[in-house]
Amino acid sequence: MKDKNVLLDHGSGGKRSNMMISDIILPAFDNPMLAALNDSAVFEIDGKKLSFSTDSYVIDPIFFPGGNIGELAVNGTINDVSMCGAKPLYLSVGIIMEEGFPFEDLEIIIKSMGEAAKKAGIQIVTGDTKVVSKGACDKIFINTSGIGVVDNNLNINGQNARVGDKIIVSGTIADHGMAVLAKREGMDFDTDIVTDSAPLNHMISDMLEISSNVHVLRDPTRGGVGTTLNEIAGQSDKGILIYENKLPVKDSVKAICELLGFDPLYVANEGKLLCFVAEEDCDKVLESIRKSEFGKDACVIGEVVEENPGRVFLETLIGGRRIIDMLTGEQLPRIC
Ligand code: MG
Repeated sequence: MKDKNVLLDHGSGGKRSNMMISDIILPAFDNPMLAALNDSAVFEIDGKKLSFSTDSYVIDPIFFPGGNIGELAVNGTINDVSMCGAKPLYLSVGIIMEEGFPFEDLEIIIKSMGEAAKKAGIQIVTGDTKVVSKGACDKIFINTSGIGVVDNNLNINGQNARVGDKIIVSGTIADHGMAVLAKREGMDFDTDIVTDSAPLNHMISDMLEISSNVHVLRDPTRGGVGTTLNEIAGQSDKGILIYENKLPVKDSVKAICELLGFDPLYVANEGKLLCFVAEEDCDKVLESIRKSEFGKDACVIGEVVEENPGRVFLETLIGGRRIIDMLTGEQLPRIC
């Protein structure tokens, strides 16, 4: 059953997005770097390995608890460049604005982008601005692309999960999605939920300094931890088992998820990573992540298993097992 037109669900990062990419985009561009479907393309130039990634930000509202579209656009691309183990260096920024957009807001957004870049230790070195007439876009959309260098010995990607690997999440899940939704629903006044948007490049370089057994890194953004684990299970053709009682979710986030009918496993994160690491290095990598200012609540949530290759299972609180599929249906449009 083929869709005739693009639906919001095609932007969810879940099943429909994946189908659109494999049906239309991959065949037309057809190259192995793209087909690897990792957070960034990794390639060599003159014997030097580079990581290159891009992302567009259309979040609504543009100001939300704990952040705004600008810093999100910087942190998000830094993280995608870094998930292959790269050290991100330079970013480009493309901005599309709607006629009438207040300069006051633009200045806040641009300033926060500069601060985010500084915090991550990268530079924004090229860019573009366009203005469209009123109604042709909603306030402001931002694209960022980034480039970084990768140690030639590293091979971290979604195909590398191995049976026995432990799966670490670097902190509480679903914070970003619920912070944005709370704001949208006018419920942000009585919660402490803020976005987790953060640059993870230093966390990654610290863990790679002490371990050469990190196999996969990925940031569970759109589609959440549930969808991201499915992507990795598929790419690696391995089974994944996670434990409900180990999933770190803040009480306030859990409460609002229950109230509004969301499963935290499918809600977007913007400052978290999933790390697949060989069991013998798990403790020291976990300790290293917890030393990062963005990794204090890191914990092990599951492991890679022999059974059910390509699938993700959750062991529930009462000891049953259920399949965790990719996200289907757009539950939170314009979340990033
Ligand atoms: Mg990503």
